[in-house]
Amino acid sequence: MAGILTGRTALVTGGSRGIGRAIAIALAAEGADVALCYAGREDAAQEVVERCLAQGGRAAAFQADVSREEDCQRLFSQTEEQLGSVDILINNAGITRDGLLLRMKAEDFDRVLEVNLRGAFLCSRLAARGMLKRRWGRIISLSSVVGLHGNAGQANYAASKAGVIGLTKALAKELGSRGVTVNAIAPGFIRTDMTEGLPEGIREGLLGAIPLGRLGEAEEVARAAVFLAGPGGDYITGQVLAVDGGMAG
Ligand code: NAP
Repeated sequence: MAGILTGRTALVTGGSRGIGRAIAIALAAEGADVALCYAGREDAAQEVVERCLAQGGRAAAFQADVSREEDCQRLFSQTEEQLGSVDILINNAGITRDGLLLRMKAEDFDRVLEVNLRGAFLCSRLAARGMLKRRWGRIISLSSVVGLHGNAGQANYAASKAGVIGLTKALAKELGSRGVTVNAIAPGFIRTDMTEGLPEGIREGLLGAIPLGRLGEAEEVARAAVFLAGPGGDYITGQVLAVDGGMAG
């Protein structure tokens, strides 16, 4: 059965787990062919590929560290070879290395910026070439409520996620005239491996700050990504869509 993304090729970075996994499966359910990359968990990535294939389209997973230019180039070549040019790019790969400012190591600051922001820049640049040629493209990057409002103990992560918003707004202006939209999604507190390890006290405090009174599910973020990638997003660019149960206010 044809979906709203039939005939499109999507690439989801960090598609092996959590939000990226849910987005990959949701895009496939709408008919897209889906490539995903993972950092190290090949088994998890293969499981997502199987889930995508079960929706009837094509799918493939590739290892790549999005902070490395040569890895990104290889990722795009492999995707193009197997599934065709990337129409929809989801910049989702992300990490945290939390710590209070006075104890934060410069390496931890750099690494978070490299993966979360430089990775999104490198992949967007590679995707834009083909999108501009074909005069159609969707770039959707995962920011965070923390990129909008900050969070103690996450100076590196907040800076990277605020950077993603700046990147999104600049690219929206640069690429809009050629049919390429660029948007960000700012999730709040979503139930994934990334938030699993939070101490009980912090978790309870965060819950109190969410008007909807519960954590979000990865699938709820995925629905926003499908909306922006599909016809619903045709006239939306340069925006930050909060999917946070009301957290950002
Ligand atoms: P997650 O469960 O920790 O999964 C991270 C994903 O990124 C995995 O697929 C991982 O691959 C991949 N990855 C990590 N480093 C990478 C690298 N250098 N190159 C390529 N891939 C890499 O994370 P998540 O919670 O789903 O978060 C997904 C995105 O949403 C992130 O950008 C995060 O900042 C953002 N976000 C999350 C929340 C939340 O509450 N969870 C809130 C706001 C924003 P492996 O499986 O191989 O390790």
